[in-house]
Amino acid sequence: MNYLNIRTKIIDASLKAQRLGLIKGTSGNVSLRSEDGVVIAITPTSVPYEDLTPEMVPLVDYTGKQLEGECRPSTELPMHLAIMNARKDVNAVVHTHSKYSTILGNIGQPLPVCTIPLITYGPDPAPIVPFELPGSDELGRAVVKALGKKGSAVILELHGLLTVGADLDAAMSCTEYIEEGAQIALYCRLAGGAIKEIPPDKIRLAMEIWASGRAL
Ligand SMILES: [Zn+2]
Repeated sequence: MNYLNIRTKIIDASLKAQRLGLIKGTSGNVSLRSEDGVVIAITPTSVPYEDLTPEMVPLVDYTGKQLEGECRPSTELPMHLAIMNARKDVNAVVHTHSKYSTILGNIGQPLPVCTIPLITYGPDPAPIVPFELPGSDELGRAVVKALGKKGSAVILELHGLLTVGADLDAAMSCTEYIEEGAQIALYCRLAGGAIKEIPPDKIRLAMEIWASGRAL
């Protein structure tokens, strides 16, 4: 069996997302580019995560052709491929149906920078992508457009959250922080208060400091 390392990481990340309550059942999907850049591993479709073995995890090429794996790739493969083809700096994609991010998307409320970790992801941490059918090429194109050259996350209207990273840990951390921010923003609204945001000039300053290698 080839690429055991990335296939195992796909299973570990999926189980972690399930444990954290970010996905239910067989929803959500994770993909990871191999270190040599030749293949992409992605969660299979309709298989309970706790039943997965590395042999079952599909490997595909950049056109979506399946090269290995006992199971079929996630139906949301076109979205993952569109990102992997468009962003060479991205090696991992995490898509969840995390509830607070989904609520923000459904009410059309952009995620404000209302927590410290969100500063890392810039002044508009997770733009909302207008609804397109899951698995469609249209959704893939819309996600790539919304992510742009540097974006780390987008909220899919009426659907869920998608994050990217240089590795799986970075993409998974982004998922956790965006979902935490969405929860705090929504609880602020429920509590009847305004959602305060960290001022843009402070965000820019923090990003400059991090870019220079210093700590805040
Ligand atoms: Zn989905």
